[in-house]
Amino acid sequence: MKIVIVGGGAAGLLAALAIKEKHPRDIVTVVDKNPKLGKKLRATGNGKANILNLGNLKGRYQHEMVAQNLFRDITRENILKFFHTHHIATLNDGDYVYPYSESANAFTDTLVKEGKALGVIYQSETKAIDYKNNVLITDQGKISFDRLIIASGLASHPQLGADANFVLNLANHGYHIVSLRPGLTPIKTIEKTKSVSGIRRKVHVTLLDHNQVYLDEDGELLFKNDGLSGIVIYHVSSQVTRFALKAPEVVVDFLPHEHFAGSLTDYFSPALASYLKPYKDPKHVIFHVKDIANYHDSVATIGGISLKDIDQNFKSKIESNVYIIGEALDQDGLCGGFNLMWAFATALKVSAII
Ligand SMILES: Cc1cc2nc3c(=O)[nH]c(=O)nc-3n(C[C@H](O)[C@H](O)[C@H](O)COP(=O)(O)OP(=O)(O)OC[C@H]3O[C@@H](n4cnc5c(N)ncnc54)[C@H](O)[C@@H]3O)c2cc1C
Repeated sequence: MKIVIVGGGAAGLLAALAIKEKHPRDIVTVVDKNPKLGKKLRATGNGKANILNLGNLKGRYQHEMVAQNLFRDITRENILKFFHTHHIATLNDGDYVYPYSESANAFTDTLVKEGKALGVIYQSETKAIDYKNNVLITDQGKISFDRLIIASGLASHPQLGADANFVLNLANHGYHIVSLRPGLTPIKTIEKTKSVSGIRRKVHVTLLDHNQVYLDEDGELLFKNDGLSGIVIYHVSSQVTRFALKAPEVVVDFLPHEHFAGSLTDYFSPALASYLKPYKDPKHVIFHVKDIANYHDSVATIGGISLKDIDQNFKSKIESNVYIIGEALDQDGLCGGFNLMWAFATALKVSAII
């Protein structure tokens, strides 16, 4: 059987390895438009690749039930065992899991090396354009297939090769594409922040819209020239987008574990103390979201191929020999390894049933 995978990123590389291992006689080909496979994967987790999260899944995914069902079936232990049997030892930092090498590059290289050893064919610098009658049409020619796996990701970080065009074109095949928006991004605020740009603080953040709470979380905040960043703010941006909040307010407690008594300079650097002076209480500073950043600064894209178009095995309901995995689907997680974990679990799920 000929299996062609569009996209040599997190999901595609893992699927290729797992399928070839299970079906050594099948011809498994991965096509990727970039010269280097796993270009984005190599940049994940600040170069360390936060590949998995062992924590509670509650509130971590856009479509939580689908994620719960998937991880009941393909457990975190299953994913880790797969890595361990492929010479990738792992390291836990609380709930966050990294390759022991703490190198996203070495991690990606090992996935490819293991696949090559089994005979996976990797065709880089090959852009898939469309497919018809069991033939994938690329800018380098045609490749016939019996099964097609779509693992081409979406739009976040185009500078790392992300490209949503293959997915968007699937509308012509009858798929429903939930509108794409940048998720996990910095936010631009109405309040000016330039004077404190570069300052980081551990804070507590509450995201409100019309008195309803959409996020209530501790985390690190980073002031930028035109707004706020940091993981907790990435989560704010995704909630603002997911719920299409009209008048979001980000309430920041700059002293999450203290009562405020004394003067601001007792707690903060002179620059931050001076910035916070106009606010009455450093435990309740409100920022108003003007905008969220674009795909260039986005970690995960919200939207994608509707989950209604696939069955529980990630097999297309529209075309009998097509499977869709990873970020290409309308699913996105919060920071902490949830997005790579989704990519890997969907890949293992398809490899188990193909
Ligand atoms: C800077 C950054 C850091 C991140 N860090 C983390 C982290 O530490 N932990 C975490 O869980 N998540 C992280 N993420 C998110 C994570 O990288 C993605 O969710 C994950 O890579 C999605 O995997 P995927 O295989 O579905 O898509 P991708 O990894 O994006 O792979 C898709 C592949 O398809 C290829 N492709 C696209 N179109 C075509 C085409 N037409 N023809 C051929 N090839 C094509 C692309 O070149 C790409 O290689 C990070 C994202 C970014 C941008």
